[in-house]
Amino acid sequence: MTENLLFIDDNWQRQLAEAFHSVEALCDYLALDRDRLPLTKAASDQFPLRVPRSFADCMEQGNPDDPLLRQVLPVTDEMITYPGYTHDPVGDQKAAQPSLILHKYHGRVLMINTGSCAINCRYCFRRNFPYAEFQLSPQKQKHALDYIRGNDSIAEVILSGGDPLLLSDAKLAGLLDALNAIDHVRRIRIHSRLPIVLPARITPELCKILARSPKNVVMVVHCNHANELSRAVAAACSQLKAHTVTLFNQAVLLKQVNDNADTLHQLSEKLFTLGIIPYYLHLLDKAVGTGHFEVSETFALQLMEKLQNTLPGYLVPKLVREITGAPAKQIIFKTG
Ligand SMILES: *Cc1c(COP(=O)(O)O)cnc(C)c1O
Ligand code: SF4
Repeated sequence: MTENLLFIDDNWQRQLAEAFHSVEALCDYLALDRDRLPLTKAASDQFPLRVPRSFADCMEQGNPDDPLLRQVLPVTDEMITYPGYTHDPVGDQKAAQPSLILHKYHGRVLMINTGSCAINCRYCFRRNFPYAEFQLSPQKQKHALDYIRGNDSIAEVILSGGDPLLLSDAKLAGLLDALNAIDHVRRIRIHSRLPIVLPARITPELCKILARSPKNVVMVVHCNHANELSRAVAAACSQLKAHTVTLFNQAVLLKQVNDNADTLHQLSEKLFTLGIIPYYLHLLDKAVGTGHFEVSETFALQLMEKLQNTLPGYLVPKLVREITGAPAKQIIFKTG
């Protein structure tokens, strides 16, 4: 294969615009009988369906239980009220006001750069987040950069979202330049699901922008199941690696998506073949509408033990939970 071939369909904006926005279109595409699915308009009214075709292409035709489909389909279970589930489970809305900066942990800040994502994951803890209030205006960006400049304990800036790779190349390049000009910032981290769900976003231009950064660029992608790792995703990751980007993965432990040891084992193995190190396996954040995805901590620990016994240590992700007000993600260990 020539290098050009890897970038053969690089019109990511068009692919984004053509993503599925309706349950009907997605079900037709996958040859699924809607009458046999527990669909409800109430769920998609709350949080619309959004699925890029490249992600839908990783699903199995005609399979209503497909683990990727389950991540994106608005279903009746979302309307169930579970105790302890809130609209802002990790305290982000409170922490973010009024700027675009979330400074919860020592030495690193998270910068919100856009309200949207290329895909709407039903289990998302930000599904109820009023992103419109956090839009990136030039003033807000300046305010955020001033904050980072004025605090020399900040060694790492995490571009998050929404999905920061939805920014245009020009905006992203401008942001990286501004961050690179701040002496005490040592690393720039990008949290993005785009290399997985819209690999066409990893264009030669983007790779050049990332490679040009004098400070190390780390990318934490988000993949929950080995089936998400198509050949196009592999090509995108290999381009990122070739442009000196360090790749990690975070996954969310989700009932009937990846809550068994074999699935998680395969995920780690496949990630590594793509040059991605498993980083975090998150227990679900308790956002309203997501309770049917919850996996208990006890069961999660059993899964971790199986992974620990069958994988090299560096392919076992850390099981973590986010706790409002805590100084770091809480690593879940077995006690007793
Ligand atoms: C998760 C998170 C980070 C990054 O934490 P790491 O443990 O370094 O991956 C930073 N800031 C906020 C607000 C976070 O939620
Ligand atoms: S890509 Fe991430 S932030 Fe966006 S909807 Fe999915 S889980 Fe939420």
